[in-house]
Amino acid sequence: MKIDFALLLKNKSLKIQRTECADGFEIYEDVIIPRPFEITTCVYFEHDMVYVELKVHYDTKIICSRCLVEFERPQRLFFKEKYTLAQLNETYAQGQIDTVELARDQIILRTSIKNVCKESCQGLCPICGQDKNQHHCDCEKEKKNPYFEKLEILLSDTDKEV
Ligand SMILES: [Zn+2]
Ligand SMILES: [Zn+2]
Repeated sequence: MKIDFALLLKNKSLKIQRTECADGFEIYEDVIIPRPFEITTCVYFEHDMVYVELKVHYDTKIICSRCLVEFERPQRLFFKEKYTLAQLNETYAQGQIDTVELARDQIILRTSIKNVCKESCQGLCPICGQDKNQHHCDCEKEKKNPYFEKLEILLSDTDKEV
């Protein structure tokens, strides 16, 4: 949706509020918005400044960058910015605000490229490829067993004595 600032400048006591639905989109390869989502925009004048407020509710479908499991996470975004008339004309060249474009930009800004299903996610075993959150494998234990390490030190010590 496009909101025309001319409308506001004509009547400074006006408060323009709109709610609309935008299409889901791909944020990054591993993070998408799978369904249409809601944007509520509010534009108003106060103390010679123009305020632009944006509330966005959306779900993200994410592939965990450690274990590759797919999951969804609900998100809320709140954007508020104030502009002088000069700044307003600089920021929104056409004299209007494209609310969907602004919402998309803000969503991208606040989405990290790497996402994990949970902070404690163990990820995949680099040796057998199993999800370590689900199964315990001994691959890495076998590779680095403290008992064997001690034994190696002992062995090298005896080597020195000889
Ligand atoms: Zn994970
Ligand atoms: Zn393994």
